[in-house]
Amino acid sequence: MAGLYVHIPFCRHKCAYCDFYSGPLRGFRAEEYVEALIAEHSVRRLADRYETIYIGGGTPSTIHPALLRPLLSLGPGERTVEVNPEDVTPQMATQWLQAGANRISMGVQSLIDSELEAVGRRHTAAGAIRAFRTLREAGFDNISLDLIYGLPGQTPQTWRRSVEDILELEPEHLSAYSLSYEPGTLLHTRLLTGKITETAEDDIVEMYEFLCTATHRAGFNHYEISNFAQPGRHSRHNSSYWDSTPYLGLGPGAHSFDGERRSFNPANLGEYMKNPAGAFQIEEETPTERHNDIVMTQLRTSRGLDPELLTPQERTKARRLLQPTPEGRLRISEADWLRSDPIMIELIR
Ligand code: SF4
Repeated sequence: MAGLYVHIPFCRHKCAYCDFYSGPLRGFRAEEYVEALIAEHSVRRLADRYETIYIGGGTPSTIHPALLRPLLSLGPGERTVEVNPEDVTPQMATQWLQAGANRISMGVQSLIDSELEAVGRRHTAAGAIRAFRTLREAGFDNISLDLIYGLPGQTPQTWRRSVEDILELEPEHLSAYSLSYEPGTLLHTRLLTGKITETAEDDIVEMYEFLCTATHRAGFNHYEISNFAQPGRHSRHNSSYWDSTPYLGLGPGAHSFDGERRSFNPANLGEYMKNPAGAFQIEEETPTERHNDIVMTQLRTSRGLDPELLTPQERTKARRLLQPTPEGRLRISEADWLRSDPIMIELIR
């Protein structure tokens, strides 16, 4: 079993909070870039067929859907394309389906126009709702939407409206992230210069609690810190990362795991284009680092941590800090997930 991640690092505009590797095409044609991805895959392939394929970015919806077909044809299972609402038209939606996508992940972030504007999103709330309906009408029956809480100017009341309006659309999957101010982003500079202030801790807790309650009520399963799914609709691709399934990441900045070793491509389009299959570097990991990585990843999920990974002393500590699951594993409770760092720090070596 293996997964395939494909990074499309192009964005027409940089959102104020974003520190992903993305930017303009920088003189390359999208066709050339896809050829480089295919060349990288032909040398580094992990499997003939992948269980899951995820085309992420960046903004994959900035390039013609037909260009994605050779990549989406590499597996029969879950095949996701990330899109931005402003790129969704009936024609594009049909072309993503024809190219082989069977799942869409769309960044909505908020359904309040002033909040979208404050972080430089290019779409409105009405535009995002329209885009969702267009995807449904085209035939997508598996759609994931992203939201962010803690945005500048957001309050527990406006968050409540965004969540309620999103749930009314009845997506199959929801990802909700707490805003983090990453150094180097425009939002971080605005914070440092006092132009904006961070959302109060109590408000973040209230937003998280409302999110948990509203999604439970709507039938979602909170299966990972930031992810909620209707029964049977969890992201198989992301779940395979958490299960240590091997995956190949194509494109600049993409990470891979072949079952034993981790590697990554440089986050530099020019460097990548010179030698797509040879640009990667091996990430040296000590056994302790590997162990800690597995522990932290498992603690992010509702399935929880396998106690067999721990020494007897560690297990005693883990039983004190964590909840038992019916399967005999140990998990961080949903209420503690929001501020889980201190618990994870206690449990790593
Ligand atoms: S569209 Fe996505 S990847 Fe591009 S800048 Fe905005 S958040 Fe980052």
